[in-house]
Amino acid sequence: DRKPTIGGNWKMNLHTGDAKALAVGLAEAVKTDAVDVTVFPAFPYLAMVAGVFCDAGSQIKVGAQDFYHQANGAYTGEVSLSMLKDVGVATVLVGHSERRHVIGETDVLINEKVLAALEAGFEVVLAIGEKLEQREAGQTDFINYAQMCYGLAGVSAEQMSKVTIAYEPVWAIGTGKTASPEDAQAAHAAIRGCLSGIYPGTDVYATTRIQYGGSMKPANAGELLAQPDIDGGLIGGASLKVEDFNGIITAA
Ligand code: 13P
Repeated sequence: DRKPTIGGNWKMNLHTGDAKALAVGLAEAVKTDAVDVTVFPAFPYLAMVAGVFCDAGSQIKVGAQDFYHQANGAYTGEVSLSMLKDVGVATVLVGHSERRHVIGETDVLINEKVLAALEAGFEVVLAIGEKLEQREAGQTDFINYAQMCYGLAGVSAEQMSKVTIAYEPVWAIGTGKTASPEDAQAAHAAIRGCLSGIYPGTDVYATTRIQYGGSMKPANAGELLAQPDIDGGLIGGASLKVEDFNGIITAA
């Protein structure tokens, strides 16, 4: 009885006009409260999108794609958790593969961010996932386990009620190649197994939601979301159109 959770990661896309149009369209289209829905706009549009949802009385939540874990001070270019809270954001994404592999974030930094966000009372979506060469070398479950161990170091079982894991195989992101429902389910089941190892004697493994991400779209969402250990999706490309994103939400 884990509630499905669908996230729309807008990445570095959209500007005022189309971001607002998408937010307004989603507020109109997404009426279900059987699914938790969060969108992650770029920093300059967070307050505007949060305002659109608030004015429309929408349940859709607004999350940030990134932040810096220090409270304030000389961190040129960075955005703090209290700034995010100030503009109506209560969810953050940490460890996305583009931040790990394009921007160069380390497991240590990712862990600092997870701990700071939980300390500040945020919901955290921790993204993990293997690269193609790691999958081909049979290392998928090991990579996921390692990224979880690092990312969740110091996170208590109680705090895990605020954490969602997003399993995003790097080779499936933005490539049109989706993991088969069987492969995705196998990875999710292994991730759940890791949670029981990291939090022994608790129900964290059973209650934590694990989203799949990587070329999810309305046409393949149903099969993926029907898998017993897949509790939702983190959507990139298909989250930029009301019809596509709502199609996935409807499938959840
Ligand atoms: P795509 O849905 O575009 O493959 O992106 C997935 C993703 O990275 C979501 O965070």
